[in-house]
Amino acid sequence: MFDFTGKTAIVTGAGSGIGEAIALELAASGAFVVVSDLDEEAANRVVAMILDRGGKAEGHAADVSDPQAMERMVAFAEAETGGLHLAVNNAGIGGPQNPVGEYPLDGWKQVIDVNLNGVFYGLRYQIPAMERAGGGAIVNIASILGSVGFANASAYVAAKHGVLGLTKTAAMEYSAKGIRVNAVGPGFIATPLLTKNLEQEVLDGLAALHPIGRIGTSEEVSALTCFLLSERASFITGSYHLVDGAYTAQ
Ligand code: NAP
Repeated sequence: MFDFTGKTAIVTGAGSGIGEAIALELAASGAFVVVSDLDEEAANRVVAMILDRGGKAEGHAADVSDPQAMERMVAFAEAETGGLHLAVNNAGIGGPQNPVGEYPLDGWKQVIDVNLNGVFYGLRYQIPAMERAGGGAIVNIASILGSVGFANASAYVAAKHGVLGLTKTAAMEYSAKGIRVNAVGPGFIATPLLTKNLEQEVLDGLAALHPIGRIGTSEEVSALTCFLLSERASFITGSYHLVDGAYTAQ
Protein backbone atom coordinates (compact mmCIF):
# COMPACT_ATOMS: atom_id res chain seq x y z
CA MET A 1 0.00 0.00 0.00
CA PHE A 2 2.97 2.34 0.70
CA ASP A 3 6.04 3.04 -1.38
CA PHE A 4 9.28 3.27 0.59
CA THR A 5 11.52 2.49 -2.38
CA GLY A 6 14.98 4.02 -1.92
CA LYS A 7 14.43 4.63 1.81
CA THR A 8 16.44 3.13 4.65
CA ALA A 9 14.58 2.28 7.86
CA ILE A 10 15.68 1.22 11.32
CA VAL A 11 13.24 -0.74 13.50
CA THR A 12 14.32 -1.51 17.07
CA GLY A 13 13.00 -4.59 18.85
CA ALA A 14 12.25 -5.95 15.37
CA GLY A 15 12.96 -9.57 16.22
CA SER A 16 9.46 -10.16 17.61
CA GLY A 17 5.86 -8.98 17.78
CA ILE A 18 4.98 -5.45 16.65
CA GLY A 19 8.54 -4.59 15.52
CA GLU A 20 8.68 -7.73 13.39
CA ALA A 21 5.38 -6.87 11.67
CA ILE A 22 6.58 -3.30 10.99
CA ALA A 23 9.92 -4.51 9.61
CA LEU A 24 8.11 -6.95 7.29
CA GLU A 25 5.65 -4.31 6.03
CA LEU A 26 8.36 -1.67 5.48
CA ALA A 27 10.45 -4.17 3.52
CA ALA A 28 7.42 -5.35 1.52
CA SER A 29 6.87 -1.68 0.63
CA GLY A 30 10.39 -1.28 -0.76
CA ALA A 31 12.47 -0.02 2.20
CA PHE A 32 15.90 -1.37 3.12
CA VAL A 33 15.30 -2.35 6.75
CA VAL A 34 17.90 -2.53 9.51
CA VAL A 35 16.28 -5.15 11.74
CA SER A 36 17.65 -4.30 15.16
CA ASP A 37 17.09 -6.33 18.33
CA LEU A 38 18.77 -7.30 21.57
CA ASP A 39 18.42 -10.88 20.36
CA GLU A 40 20.64 -11.29 17.27
CA GLU A 41 19.13 -14.67 16.34
CA ALA A 42 15.61 -13.21 16.38
CA ALA A 43 16.75 -10.28 14.20
CA ASN A 44 18.38 -12.68 11.73
CA ARG A 45 15.19 -14.78 11.56
CA VAL A 46 13.22 -11.69 10.50
CA VAL A 47 15.94 -10.72 8.00
CA ALA A 48 15.71 -14.22 6.47
CA MET A 49 11.91 -13.81 6.10
CA ILE A 50 12.40 -10.45 4.36
CA LEU A 51 15.08 -11.78 1.99
CA ASP A 52 12.88 -14.84 1.18
CA ARG A 53 10.11 -12.46 0.14
CA GLY A 54 12.46 -10.51 -2.15
CA GLY A 55 13.04 -7.59 0.23
CA LYS A 56 16.21 -5.90 1.46
CA ALA A 57 17.39 -6.07 5.08
CA GLU A 58 20.34 -6.48 7.42
CA GLY A 59 20.25 -7.62 11.04
CA HIS A 60 21.94 -5.61 13.78
CA ALA A 61 22.21 -6.61 17.43
CA ALA A 62 21.79 -3.61 19.74
CA ASP A 63 20.54 -2.82 23.23
CA VAL A 64 18.44 0.37 23.06
CA SER A 65 19.37 1.23 26.65
CA ASP A 66 23.03 1.61 25.60
CA PRO A 67 23.62 5.01 23.93
CA GLN A 68 26.83 3.87 22.24
CA ALA A 69 24.96 0.89 20.75
CA MET A 70 22.34 3.29 19.35
CA GLU A 71 25.10 5.45 17.83
CA ARG A 72 26.64 2.33 16.25
CA MET A 73 23.23 1.17 14.95
CA VAL A 74 22.67 4.46 13.11
CA ALA A 75 26.26 4.47 11.78
CA PHE A 76 25.68 0.90 10.54
CA ALA A 77 22.53 1.95 8.65
CA GLU A 78 24.33 4.89 7.04
CA ALA A 79 27.39 2.82 6.14
CA GLU A 80 25.25 0.05 4.59
CA THR A 81 22.97 2.25 2.51
CA GLY A 82 24.31 5.82 2.47
CA GLY A 83 21.61 7.43 4.65
CA LEU A 84 18.79 7.01 7.15
CA HIS A 85 15.25 8.16 6.31
CA LEU A 86 12.84 6.25 8.59
CA ALA A 87 13.01 4.96 12.17
CA VAL A 88 10.67 3.13 14.51
CA ASN A 89 11.65 3.16 18.18
CA ASN A 90 9.71 0.08 19.19
CA ALA A 91 11.80 -2.01 21.61
CA GLY A 92 10.14 -2.28 25.00
CA ILE A 93 9.64 -4.46 28.03
CA GLY A 94 6.77 -4.93 30.46
CA GLY A 95 8.64 -4.90 33.76
CA PRO A 96 7.58 -5.93 37.26
CA GLN A 97 3.95 -5.79 38.37
CA ASN A 98 3.65 -4.19 41.79
CA PRO A 99 1.93 -1.19 43.33
CA VAL A 100 4.07 1.95 43.55
CA GLY A 101 4.74 1.51 47.29
CA GLU A 102 6.26 -1.91 46.64
CA TYR A 103 7.75 -1.39 43.19
CA PRO A 104 11.26 -2.94 42.88
CA LEU A 105 13.87 -0.18 42.46
CA ASP A 106 15.97 -2.15 39.98
CA GLY A 107 12.84 -2.99 37.94
CA TRP A 108 11.91 0.71 37.80
CA LYS A 109 15.38 1.60 36.52
CA GLN A 110 15.36 -1.18 33.91
CA VAL A 111 11.94 -0.23 32.47
CA ILE A 112 12.83 3.48 32.31
CA ASP A 113 16.21 2.61 30.73
CA VAL A 114 14.65 0.54 27.94
CA ASN A 115 11.22 2.12 27.37
CA LEU A 116 12.09 5.82 27.84
CA ASN A 117 15.87 6.32 27.75
CA GLY A 118 16.02 3.84 24.84
CA VAL A 119 13.69 6.03 22.78
CA PHE A 120 15.78 9.13 23.60
CA TYR A 121 19.03 7.39 22.64
CA GLY A 122 17.42 6.30 19.37
CA LEU A 123 16.24 9.84 18.55
CA ARG A 124 19.56 11.32 19.68
CA TYR A 125 21.41 9.59 16.81
CA GLN A 126 18.61 9.06 14.25
CA ILE A 127 17.77 12.77 14.02
CA PRO A 128 21.27 13.99 13.04
CA ALA A 129 21.45 11.16 10.48
CA MET A 130 18.09 12.23 9.02
CA GLU A 131 19.32 15.83 8.87
CA ARG A 132 22.32 14.57 6.87
CA ALA A 133 19.88 12.68 4.58
CA GLY A 134 17.74 15.78 4.01
CA GLY A 135 14.73 14.73 6.13
CA GLY A 136 12.87 11.74 7.49
CA ALA A 137 10.08 10.36 9.63
CA ILE A 138 10.11 8.66 13.03
CA VAL A 139 7.46 6.74 14.94
CA ASN A 140 7.89 6.00 18.64
CA ILE A 141 5.81 3.06 19.82
CA ALA A 142 4.17 4.20 23.06
CA SER A 143 0.96 2.55 24.33
CA ILE A 144 -2.54 3.37 25.48
CA LEU A 145 -0.62 3.57 28.76
CA GLY A 146 1.01 6.74 27.40
CA SER A 147 -2.24 8.53 28.23
CA VAL A 148 -3.98 6.53 30.99
CA GLY A 149 -2.78 4.72 34.10
CA PHE A 150 -2.75 0.97 34.77
CA ALA A 151 -2.50 -0.50 38.25
CA ASN A 152 0.76 -2.27 39.09
CA ALA A 153 2.58 -0.93 36.00
CA SER A 154 3.92 2.43 37.21
CA ALA A 155 7.31 2.26 35.50
CA TYR A 156 5.79 1.21 32.17
CA VAL A 157 3.07 3.88 32.40
CA ALA A 158 5.55 6.61 33.39
CA ALA A 159 7.95 5.64 30.59
CA LYS A 160 5.19 5.63 27.96
CA HIS A 161 3.85 9.01 29.14
CA GLY A 162 7.45 10.26 28.85
CA VAL A 163 7.68 8.98 25.27
CA LEU A 164 4.75 11.25 24.34
CA GLY A 165 6.50 14.33 25.77
CA LEU A 166 9.71 13.44 23.97
CA THR A 167 7.81 12.89 20.71
CA LYS A 168 6.04 16.26 20.88
CA THR A 169 9.24 18.14 21.73
CA ALA A 170 11.34 16.49 19.01
CA ALA A 171 8.58 17.21 16.47
CA MET A 172 8.56 20.92 17.42
CA GLU A 173 12.33 21.11 17.15
CA TYR A 174 12.73 19.33 13.81
CA SER A 175 9.54 19.70 11.72
CA ALA A 176 10.95 22.77 9.94
CA LYS A 177 13.97 20.64 9.03
CA GLY A 178 11.81 18.03 7.30
CA ILE A 179 11.76 15.45 10.10
CA ARG A 180 8.35 14.33 11.39
CA VAL A 181 8.05 12.56 14.76
CA ASN A 182 4.87 10.84 15.95
CA ALA A 183 3.86 8.34 18.62
CA VAL A 184 1.57 5.34 18.29
CA GLY A 185 -0.54 4.07 21.19
CA PRO A 186 -1.54 0.43 20.78
CA GLY A 187 -4.10 -1.22 23.03
CA PHE A 188 -3.28 -4.75 24.13
CA ILE A 189 -1.79 -6.62 21.18
CA ALA A 190 -1.24 -10.37 20.73
CA THR A 191 2.56 -10.56 20.80
CA PRO A 192 5.03 -12.67 22.79
CA LEU A 193 5.30 -9.76 25.30
CA LEU A 194 1.73 -10.64 26.30
CA THR A 195 1.15 -14.25 25.24
CA LYS A 196 4.35 -15.73 26.69
CA ASN A 197 3.68 -14.20 30.12
CA LEU A 198 -0.09 -14.48 30.62
CA GLU A 199 -2.65 -17.29 30.99
CA GLN A 200 -5.54 -17.48 28.48
CA GLU A 201 -7.98 -16.41 31.21
CA VAL A 202 -6.01 -13.21 31.79
CA LEU A 203 -5.80 -12.58 28.03
CA ASP A 204 -9.59 -12.97 27.80
CA GLY A 205 -9.94 -10.43 30.63
CA LEU A 206 -7.70 -7.98 28.74
CA ALA A 207 -9.74 -8.50 25.55
CA ALA A 208 -12.89 -7.58 27.46
CA LEU A 209 -11.37 -4.19 28.39
CA HIS A 210 -11.56 -3.19 24.69
CA PRO A 211 -15.08 -2.23 23.50
CA ILE A 212 -14.24 -3.89 20.17
CA GLY A 213 -14.20 -7.17 22.13
CA ARG A 214 -10.72 -8.48 21.37
CA ILE A 215 -7.05 -7.62 21.59
CA GLY A 216 -5.30 -6.33 18.48
CA THR A 217 -2.76 -7.75 16.06
CA SER A 218 0.77 -6.58 15.27
CA GLU A 219 -0.30 -6.01 11.66
CA GLU A 220 -2.96 -3.52 12.83
CA VAL A 221 -0.25 -1.52 14.62
CA SER A 222 2.07 -1.80 11.63
CA ALA A 223 -0.57 -0.40 9.25
CA LEU A 224 -0.86 2.81 11.31
CA THR A 225 2.90 3.07 11.82
CA CYS A 226 3.66 2.70 8.10
CA PHE A 227 1.00 5.30 7.27
CA LEU A 228 2.63 7.78 9.68
CA LEU A 229 6.06 7.08 8.15
CA SER A 230 4.72 7.58 4.63
CA GLU A 231 4.35 10.76 2.58
CA ARG A 232 0.57 10.32 2.93
CA ALA A 233 1.07 11.65 6.49
CA SER A 234 3.11 14.69 5.39
CA PHE A 235 1.21 17.19 7.65
CA ILE A 236 1.11 14.89 10.68
CA THR A 237 3.81 15.44 13.27
CA GLY A 238 4.09 15.79 17.03
CA SER A 239 0.95 13.78 17.70
CA TYR A 240 -0.16 10.59 19.37
CA HIS A 241 -2.22 8.08 17.39
CA LEU A 242 -4.22 5.34 19.05
CA VAL A 243 -4.86 1.88 17.65
CA ASP A 244 -6.80 0.51 20.61
CA GLY A 245 -10.27 -0.86 19.79
CA ALA A 246 -11.78 2.09 21.74
CA TYR A 247 -9.96 1.16 25.01
CA THR A 248 -9.29 4.82 25.83
CA ALA A 249 -12.62 6.08 24.46
CA GLN A 250 -14.42 4.87 27.59
P1 NAP B 1 7.84 -8.32 22.12
O1 NAP B 1 7.10 -9.28 21.25
O2 NAP B 1 8.39 -8.76 23.43
O3 NAP B 1 9.01 -7.68 21.23
C1 NAP B 1 9.88 -6.74 21.76
C2 NAP B 1 11.25 -6.99 21.18
O4 NAP B 1 12.14 -6.01 21.75
C3 NAP B 1 11.80 -8.36 21.55
O5 NAP B 1 12.45 -8.97 20.44
C4 NAP B 1 12.80 -8.03 22.65
O6 NAP B 1 13.88 -8.94 22.73
C5 NAP B 1 13.30 -6.68 22.18
N1 NAP B 1 13.95 -5.97 23.26
C6 NAP B 1 13.69 -6.01 24.60
N2 NAP B 1 14.53 -5.23 25.25
C7 NAP B 1 15.37 -4.67 24.33
C8 NAP B 1 16.47 -3.80 24.40
N3 NAP B 1 16.92 -3.33 25.58
N4 NAP B 1 17.09 -3.45 23.26
C9 NAP B 1 16.67 -3.92 22.06
N5 NAP B 1 15.65 -4.78 21.94
C10 NAP B 1 15.00 -5.15 23.07
O7 NAP B 1 6.94 -7.04 22.45
P2 NAP B 1 5.82 -6.24 21.60
O8 NAP B 1 4.52 -6.52 22.23
O9 NAP B 1 6.01 -6.45 20.15
O10 NAP B 1 6.21 -4.76 22.02
C11 NAP B 1 6.80 -3.83 21.13
C12 NAP B 1 6.49 -2.44 21.63
O11 NAP B 1 5.09 -2.24 21.65
C13 NAP B 1 6.98 -2.16 23.06
O12 NAP B 1 7.50 -0.86 23.14
C14 NAP B 1 5.72 -2.29 23.88
O13 NAP B 1 5.78 -1.55 25.06
C15 NAP B 1 4.71 -1.73 22.90
N6 NAP B 1 3.33 -2.12 23.19
C16 NAP B 1 2.98 -3.43 23.24
C17 NAP B 1 1.66 -3.76 23.52
C18 NAP B 1 1.20 -5.18 23.62
O14 NAP B 1 0.11 -5.40 24.16
N7 NAP B 1 1.93 -6.16 23.11
C19 NAP B 1 0.72 -2.74 23.76
C20 NAP B 1 1.12 -1.42 23.70
C21 NAP B 1 2.44 -1.12 23.40
P3 NAP B 1 13.77 -10.15 23.81
O15 NAP B 1 12.62 -10.99 23.37
O16 NAP B 1 15.11 -10.80 23.70
O17 NAP B 1 13.52 -9.47 25.13
